[in-house]
Amino acid sequence: MGFIILDTLYIILPKKYPVKNITKHLLLAGFSFFALASCSDKGTETKQPPKVAEQQVSKPVVKAPDFNADSAYSYIDQQVAFGPRVPNTKEHEACGDYLIATLKRLGAEVTVQEFEATAFDGTKLQLRNIVGSFRPDLKKRVLLAAHWDTRPFSDQEKDPEADLKKPIDGANDGASGVGILMEVGRSIQSDLKNLNVGVDLMFFDGEDYGEPEFYEGVSQVRDSYCLGSQYWANNRHVAGYHAYYGILLDMAGGKGAHFYQEGVSLQFAPTIVKKVWDQGHALGYGEFFVRQPTYPITDDHVYVNRSGIPMIDIIDHDPASDSFFGHYWHTHKDNMEVIDKKTLKAVGQTLLGVLYSE
Ligand SMILES: [Zn+2]
Repeated sequence: MGFIILDTLYIILPKKYPVKNITKHLLLAGFSFFALASCSDKGTETKQPPKVAEQQVSKPVVKAPDFNADSAYSYIDQQVAFGPRVPNTKEHEACGDYLIATLKRLGAEVTVQEFEATAFDGTKLQLRNIVGSFRPDLKKRVLLAAHWDTRPFSDQEKDPEADLKKPIDGANDGASGVGILMEVGRSIQSDLKNLNVGVDLMFFDGEDYGEPEFYEGVSQVRDSYCLGSQYWANNRHVAGYHAYYGILLDMAGGKGAHFYQEGVSLQFAPTIVKKVWDQGHALGYGEFFVRQPTYPITDDHVYVNRSGIPMIDIIDHDPASDSFFGHYWHTHKDNMEVIDKKTLKAVGQTLLGVLYSE
């Protein structure tokens, strides 16, 4: 994911600002929005008497399949083993083929959307959005998404000697979301009869090819991140496709992750935020699902929301920390060592709880 944006106007901030400065600059500008957002979800903290519905927390759903964090971890490990999944490389192509084959093996109906996109520096990127559908017969659908490409740069390295142009493993920034969703797919395939919604797993490409700060040329595109979701927003993989709502995972598998309630999610899909965070708390994962609103973040869900499907983002970030995102973000530390099965379990089990509550 890339820059932070300001609510409905989508003001793209000056790109030379590091994220931690952006957050400070946004603090006042975004205040009224966050105050509103927090009121809608935190009834007990407003002066109004809390409504009963807001106090209720969903009960744990016993009929949901058990999410296997070891298997999710293995799906992440296998992606990382290909090497960095940078568009236009053989590693990227091989990993895409692996994802398609794995979805098919799990029994999903697979649709591959191939397209060309222009990067910030004018490079033509050959990209693939990969969709695996479960219960394609059902009209009511939930869209679960993550990005499968990885960043071509390690431009957040703090060491002044570091080569910022070396690609990263992207174990958490990319692979973790895909791994969790692959395991969600495997779980629901094992218990399709109790599932009352169709589920589409969307693996977006080209999310992390955004313009780095070291680039000195003139950008060739307006929004250089999220190329796959931007394409899909204008070109559905199936004509007329619609989902009831969507959930995006990004950096969803790191040790000690904190999922604050991100600003774009609260703006477009506050009831889905509540549904998911309530489910997480009901299942005992409250330490991960922090009920506190934070800043809007540019990520694939922005373009999905703009195209008419309300989608939230479960993304590890901490507004109180210096780096805003984890210490590993867009550095070589984003490798398998940051992945924690406890986090994978919390996110995966919560998703299954949400799906099987529908
Ligand atoms: Zn990223």
